[in-house]
Amino acid sequence: MPPATLQALREALLAWFARNARDLPWRRTRDPYRILVSEIMLQQTQVERVVPKYHAFLEAFPPLERLADAPTAEVIRLWAGLGYNRRAVNLQRTARVVVEEHGGSFPREVAALRRLPGVGPYTAGAVACFAFEQDVAFLDTNIRRVLRRACIGPDELAGGVGDRELLALGAALVPPGRGWAWNQALIELGALVCTAAVPACPRCPLRPACRAYAARAAADEALIGAMAAGVHPLPARRVAERKAQPYAGSRRWYRGRVIDALRALPPGGALPLVELGPRLKPDYASADEPWLRALVADLDRDGLLVVEGERVRLP
Ligand code: SF4
Repeated sequence: MPPATLQALREALLAWFARNARDLPWRRTRDPYRILVSEIMLQQTQVERVVPKYHAFLEAFPPLERLADAPTAEVIRLWAGLGYNRRAVNLQRTARVVVEEHGGSFPREVAALRRLPGVGPYTAGAVACFAFEQDVAFLDTNIRRVLRRACIGPDELAGGVGDRELLALGAALVPPGRGWAWNQALIELGALVCTAAVPACPRCPLRPACRAYAARAAADEALIGAMAAGVHPLPARRVAERKAQPYAGSRRWYRGRVIDALRALPPGGALPLVELGPRLKPDYASADEPWLRALVADLDRDGLLVVEGERVRLP
């Protein structure tokens, strides 16, 4: 991309973000602990549901040390309603590693952040950028979609482009010294304008340079030309409907039900396996016992519960 075009594109997106950014609590801080809490919560959970949980979590565990010291059961209880409970356990493990191995201060570099429990490439990049204002590129669902469409082309074409290539593209776009605003802007654009279902191209600041938009506009023009010439376009190809896997009854659903049952107990309480089974499945039978034991063994391995003989409890 010519430097002048790149500069214009950066300015356009940053100006759009300045006008349209949502006022989210994690955008008002540079505290790496608070940024990490928000980023972990935002994985798999929508912003509206995260905001109240974010405030409640930080009220319960205001400094990192309080989270590191808390009983894990307390952290899992507070995570209720967010799902993917393993995130809560990993968040506490990270707090403990930062306190015990880093003297309570988060490492600043992406490579060091990645060594923290449960911190993948996206989260490490997000903390480095949103807490320490480093000009790094990283990918989440929204950033991926915007970069693919803007720099490569329509979804059918760009879907096959891998993360390595996208990261290289993303890194070349980050404006020096403005990585924080740039990455927030990409995420915001993907959430509010360049959405998965229907991108709102007419109000997109990237439209003048967007390859997906240009390809779509060219295809529309060709179609209008063909129709004007009396040529009937081929019938639109049916987009294969992706069958959603039902969540209720899935292994993840049962894992959540086990943790919900343990959360409902008074602190320190345990539940016998013979009681847990029928709570999960009304038609629970002795033939289901191996399934139940495998389920709780998995949760035990993930640090979400403790198996004590024939009983289970929160850690
Ligand atoms: S012009 Fe349309 S497809 Fe391109 S980045 Fe903007 S919203 Fe997405």
